Amino acid sequence: MTLPGKEATIADVVSIAVECIDCGRNRWWKPAELRRYGVNGQTPLAALSERLRCSACQADGLPGRAVSIQAAFIEEHERRRRAARRRNEREMPLERSRRA
Ligand SMILES: [Zn+2]
Repeated sequence: MTLPGKEATIADVVSIAVECIDCGRNRWWKPAELRRYGVNGQTPLAALSERLRCSACQADGLPGRAVSIQAAFIEEHERRRRAARRRNEREMPLERSRRA
């Protein structure tokens, strides 16, 4: 979930799923693992699929360029974590006051 008008970059994601349309291989990558492909925090998500290649297809002499990218955004992840924390904070004192 990104704000409208703001382009999503690697800095916004927790992990990235890269699926090869040609051979069906897929894998979740951490942004740090993509550094060796010249990907950094400022790399727009839209540019990712141009940079990544399927190594299995390349080994077979194919271009390996038909990759589809799916990103798990930090905000979603954070929001879920914060919601869980809030729930814990709220429940504990309530439990106590109800019993008192
Ligand atoms: Zn492939």
